[in-house]
Amino acid sequence: MAHINQNFEKLPGSYLFAEIARRTAEYKEAHPDADIIRLGIGDVTLPLIPAVRQAMHEAVDEQADAATFKGYGPYEGYDFLREAIAEHDFAARGVDVEPNEIFISDGAKSDCGNIVDLFALENKVAVCDPVYPVYVDSNALAGRAGEYDVDAEMWTDIYYMPTTAENGFCPALPLEDVDLIYLCSPNNPTGTVLTHDQLKMWVDYANDHDAIILFDAAYERFITEEGALHSIYEVEGAKSCAIEFRSFSKTAGFTGMRCGCTVIPECLVRQGQSLNEMWMRRQSTKFNGASYIIQKGAAAIYTPEGHRQVEESLDYYRENARVIKEGLEDAGLEVYGAVNSPYVWCKTPGGMDSWTFFGKLLDEAQVVTTPGAGFGPAGEGYIRLTAFGDAEQTKEALRRIKAIL
Ligand code: PLP
Repeated sequence: MAHINQNFEKLPGSYLFAEIARRTAEYKEAHPDADIIRLGIGDVTLPLIPAVRQAMHEAVDEQADAATFKGYGPYEGYDFLREAIAEHDFAARGVDVEPNEIFISDGAKSDCGNIVDLFALENKVAVCDPVYPVYVDSNALAGRAGEYDVDAEMWTDIYYMPTTAENGFCPALPLEDVDLIYLCSPNNPTGTVLTHDQLKMWVDYANDHDAIILFDAAYERFITEEGALHSIYEVEGAKSCAIEFRSFSKTAGFTGMRCGCTVIPECLVRQGQSLNEMWMRRQSTKFNGASYIIQKGAAAIYTPEGHRQVEESLDYYRENARVIKEGLEDAGLEVYGAVNSPYVWCKTPGGMDSWTFFGKLLDEAQVVTTPGAGFGPAGEGYIRLTAFGDAEQTKEALRRIKAIL
């Protein structure tokens, strides 16, 4: 008899986006003529930039010619892309990350989920609350989260660190020892960034406790403020305690293309084992490498032309974020994020709970948002709006929201 992984049964249903879709569909059925504007989903809408398209067309032609055809690629990714990342994302910022510390993948979600393979069950996991659900669910599936407490909407063995306006969206150091610490900056869902000093506090903690920081930098290209960190390796001491996840999804419209990378420094060692070597072993066992065509497309964003075109797309979303932030502030709301992120995190008015405010915006303004409570208990009292929509629709959404508040 085959015994299944019982941890699947403990997982709560993917309630959040299913419930948003259900409520939106219900509203649409009752109001078929309603012009609904969706600022809920975190997916890009602009097409691929020309530099990426051209590089991929060329790669397709290479694959169509016996002289240049490529089969399986390196598990860890092609050198041309690893070298471009090392040079432009790290060396250009004065950060020493070598190409052989960079592992190309089909995106940050897979890597954030798969990284748990490297760690023993007895590790104590700490996550920010609210949280990108992958960090929690992948540990739950591995059996490292304990039981799911339906009332508290928390796992019994996960250490939750509230990150709210009250603590400036920086998690406080834990009251008990933790071993694996997930940090995400710029943060999904709050859109806020951790400062150098805040990250240094965590790097020092991790080095002192032989813990590991799992740092998600998927949104780093949205940073506009001088001094905000694009990588945890900009913090002294991070290479001996941190793994970093990066993604081309939001940077270059690759959500449907699939490409990202994970950085594991060579000096990152625990119990005498190199985590870089362990990850190589893990990837070569379970992953046959990202597509050559996609990696060629990703490398094109590091050419001068590609860089300029990426910035143009990002500016489009940045302007949406500004419109949302200023519109909500004009409506008298407390707003966070937006400046270094495509996400705008907004406090609900008058202490309203986040599903009620979601319902009000849908009913009265026909605007779909994401209730903060869906990202964890400390997300209660907030909603998330995204800057990935159409510019005119985004402006219209804010006109409507201002009119009803
Ligand atoms: N990390 C965070 C914080 C995200 O919000 C997302 C996607 O929404 C990802 C990772 C996944 O990125 P990818 O598309 O590269 O898998």
